[in-house]
Amino acid sequence: MSELEQAVKRLGKELGFDLVRITSLQPFFRDEDAALQRIRQGLMDGMPWFSEERVRKAAHPEILMPDARSIIVLAMSYYTREDEEDALPGSRGRIARYAWGDDYHKVMKERLHLFVGRLSETLDHPVKARIFVDDGPMLERAVAERAGLGWFGKNTMILTPTHGSWIFLGEVITDLVLEPDKPLLKNCGQCTQCIDKCPTGAIIAPYVIDAPRCISYLTIEHRGPIPRHLRPLVGDWVFGCDICQEVCPVNRRAEKGHEKAFTKRSGFGVLDLISILGMSDEDFRDRFHNSPIKRAKRVGLQRNACVALGNIGNPIAVPALTDALKEGDSLVRGHAAWALGRIATWEALLALELALAREEDQEVREELVFALETTAASARSG
Ligand code: SF4
Ligand code: SF4
Repeated sequence: MSELEQAVKRLGKELGFDLVRITSLQPFFRDEDAALQRIRQGLMDGMPWFSEERVRKAAHPEILMPDARSIIVLAMSYYTREDEEDALPGSRGRIARYAWGDDYHKVMKERLHLFVGRLSETLDHPVKARIFVDDGPMLERAVAERAGLGWFGKNTMILTPTHGSWIFLGEVITDLVLEPDKPLLKNCGQCTQCIDKCPTGAIIAPYVIDAPRCISYLTIEHRGPIPRHLRPLVGDWVFGCDICQEVCPVNRRAEKGHEKAFTKRSGFGVLDLISILGMSDEDFRDRFHNSPIKRAKRVGLQRNACVALGNIGNPIAVPALTDALKEGDSLVRGHAAWALGRIATWEALLALELALAREEDQEVREELVFALETTAASARSG
């Protein structure tokens, strides 16, 4: 490694990145084929931005910046300290770890701009660069793999030897001519923990996720009703899911991260779902300002809260779900009906009957009828 590569890596570390590696601009043919196949098989349905055109561009990074010569990939750990939780027992909804702190897009982008600026100062000439953080045509995991930052886990995450998969990735395409790093000669071996423990069976084969079945997709990206057959499998997750990372043996040895922006905000590791149900748009904006959770939108998070409360099954949630049945958006009313049907106390059933007498939205009426019929059927069989 020459002095230039050393300077690049030193600067990345000084700015708080845990890992810094380099790769070439060579096309990513294997990953292009795999991504195109997944789109055609419907495994990326519901994510229209993940198009064939975007994949083609991403697999040929020379298109993204014609005079580019290298890609620097930088990673920051979000595996930070854990605190006590303060949500009400019986109404706790889990949040994926990556969303416990500030919005990583903003944090990583600002830091990468600083990195490029400092690099220009250090080298005493302007460095031309384009920056990506999970937001443009970039096969970021393929880039990280080829740069030797980590290897592809069977859960499709990049596993780094030191920080596991609890990392955010950022890429800088640059006109600097840098010697590429070599890929790691590592893989998951015989382990299948993530596949075995995925509650929805979304990892349909090693390295292949059926996105429409994945709790992360369902609770964050998906905009309509959560398919009924999947709701019980979502458990108490209301934003993302960490199960295939939590069970991963590589992650058990992961070093803790140091970035303050990613330490847990108070009350963010688990959310109090009853308070979520009562939120206005303004409350939502205030509470989730600069948080990745805002991506789910207020209605999506309330939909998810209903599903989690139905799965938790604690009658403490009945008054809040009854209010949601009266005042929520139609998507929330439909999921509140499902949750009340799962809790099935007499107060819950009364709320469902009263709602059915006044509800005009056809889809919500179907949810109400389904909730009442399934509780009646289980009472008969019980
Ligand atoms: Fe399965 Fe959860 Fe991993 Fe999605 S995030 S693949 S639902 S374990
Ligand atoms: Fe690989 Fe096992 Fe981790 Fe899955 S759980 S990503 S198979 S090491």
